[in-house]
Amino acid sequence: MKGIAINIKNAESMKCRLCGSKNTRLLFSKQTFLEYDNKVWDIYECCDCSLKFIKNDQPFDYEKFYNFRYKDRVIDDNYIYQNSKYWKHEAKILSRVLPQKSIRIMDIGCNAGNFLYQSPKTWIKFGVELSDLAIIGRKHGLAILQQNIEDIEISNNFFDIITMYALIEHLVNIEKVFDKIHSILKPNGVLAVMTADSNSLKAKLKGQNWHMYSPPEHQFFFTAKSLDNFLAKYDFQLSYRYYNSGGMADYFKNKWLTKIIGIIQSRVMDRSFIKKIPIFDHMYSYYKLLKE
Ligand SMILES: [Zn+2]
Repeated sequence: MKGIAINIKNAESMKCRLCGSKNTRLLFSKQTFLEYDNKVWDIYECCDCSLKFIKNDQPFDYEKFYNFRYKDRVIDDNYIYQNSKYWKHEAKILSRVLPQKSIRIMDIGCNAGNFLYQSPKTWIKFGVELSDLAIIGRKHGLAILQQNIEDIEISNNFFDIITMYALIEHLVNIEKVFDKIHSILKPNGVLAVMTADSNSLKAKLKGQNWHMYSPPEHQFFFTAKSLDNFLAKYDFQLSYRYYNSGGMADYFKNKWLTKIIGIIQSRVMDRSFIKKIPIFDHMYSYYKLLKE
């Protein structure tokens, strides 16, 4: 009977939320990943652009959800110093993709400003962060706005670089955000996106248990193809891409273990052909904006 139920669902023909194709299939369903809510979310795959996404057609209080999600997060001034090696490496890559001296950068979903804080002093830096982590960043002298990027008034062609780390998969109003990015980024400006690749070996091995399949926190589960395909609609062309196992936060909660893994990553993985293959799920993509 279960098989029949799935076939009926498929017959509804769910449209791909980003490319609009009707050629999609239901992969599986999953409950809201925090226990306080028992809604069930269908996860679909687009057979054309390869995007995976949740069917987002039920009312949901996202503000309540995120407040609950982060209620135990300890916010103190040291939060901003996390893993400087990781962020310095990121700044180095951006300087390589856009080799120019004067850089005006916007980090969307910037947390406490961890990356902005560690990036070169010569850069002119702005951040956007909805949570109260923004307050810590401001205490450290960073210009961090606590507003949705699409609601902020910014002149056209203002930024040289826009970055989004672990953010794009959360965006319910993704099209509005990218309309804004398209207008405020300069022609030939760089957009850096870090998201998890749902076609990576790690994701495939974990199957439905992959930690990124956590609806409705994550609305989209990108692949290299679906990300390039979506961003092409906004005139973005891929310049560079690599993969690694992550490192934005101290997952191991152990200073020495984190250090050792960091060294292996920077000395071996980041310097070899391995980084081009989607073994690990953290996908870093750098795009140029080709507009007039
Ligand atoms: Zn699609």
